[in-house]
Amino acid sequence: MGTATLSIDLDAIAANWRALDRMSAPDVQTAAVVKAGGYGLGIPRVVQALAQAGARRFFVAVAEEGAAVRQVLGPGPQISVLSGHMPGDTEMIHDLDLTPMLNSIDQITRHLESLPGHAFGVQLDTGMNRLGLEAPEWEAVAPILLEGRPALVMSHLACADDPASAVNEAQLAAFHAMTDGIGVPRSLAATGGLLLGPEYHFDLTRPGIGLYGGRPFEAATPVVGLSLPVIQTRAVAAGEIVGYAGSWVAEGASVIATVSGGYADGLPRSLSNAAVLWDGAIPCPLVGRVSMDLITVDITHLPEVPRSLDLLGPYQTVDDLADAAGTIGYEILTGLGARYVRRYAEGAR
Ligand SMILES: *Cc1c(COP(=O)(O)O)cnc(C)c1O
Repeated sequence: MGTATLSIDLDAIAANWRALDRMSAPDVQTAAVVKAGGYGLGIPRVVQALAQAGARRFFVAVAEEGAAVRQVLGPGPQISVLSGHMPGDTEMIHDLDLTPMLNSIDQITRHLESLPGHAFGVQLDTGMNRLGLEAPEWEAVAPILLEGRPALVMSHLACADDPASAVNEAQLAAFHAMTDGIGVPRSLAATGGLLLGPEYHFDLTRPGIGLYGGRPFEAATPVVGLSLPVIQTRAVAAGEIVGYAGSWVAEGASVIATVSGGYADGLPRSLSNAAVLWDGAIPCPLVGRVSMDLITVDITHLPEVPRSLDLLGPYQTVDDLADAAGTIGYEILTGLGARYVRRYAEGAR
């Protein structure tokens, strides 16, 4: 088979959710962020695993994702839409009982006019300048909104992966100033904020990346493995080039494996001449350019030609690969292509 295999450990996702849940006080609810198809790992199985672990509140980016999550969960668990109530979303929000996190006066008007009495939350901007009402807007509409009993009032931290950043405390103070005494459940922390400590937890935390084994949750159980089949091998003499633009030149006689997987599968082109694949515990350098469907790997030092090489696994995490590519684990995960065979493991732990 020429298709690579992405293995996803559902027990590890469940274990990560429980570990993050234990980090806050028992009266703090731990939600699960499953936007972008569960960070690229696949909505049905990831959502099922999180629900079985105990998650009762889910966050998605857009209403369409919420529909997919509702299909898995059935009625009951709360599904919040971070992009709020967009034009065209009304029917879906109503029919699938989604809870939009309203971000602007426009969205508030749309929601209250089209779905009076339907659940909603409010997103506030405390300094990130991305989504949510700013302080003066909030001040103007809070009395009306709070009458409608929002399910949640939330904000998002811009620098939570850096505990030393002064922005964290500034946003915390801004959130307090905007929400103290409102008598409605509040949420500020994603994975990074959860790890900053209890003063960031409020009533509900919203971890995403930590569930999937990524930084900044350093204690996470790894979730993802990616094994790429070797399609063919060839001997290359000293001075010969490998791949587009001849960006790698053999210094000596070499054995090169051509491996299935390329930038169309979410392997960033910046991994060219920069990544390592693994044959068990033996590292093998990726040589030459990453092309659309293929990479080339120097396996001169291997005793035997392996059937496949691991790009993600026990010796290389998503964050290791992200470092090699000059990006972040989030981008590697969500970029993992649609072409892989996804193999879900559970029941092992
Ligand atoms: C993506 C996102 C999260 C989850 O963030 P992680 O860093 O993946 O834990 C939480 N809240 C909001 C508003 C987000 O956009």
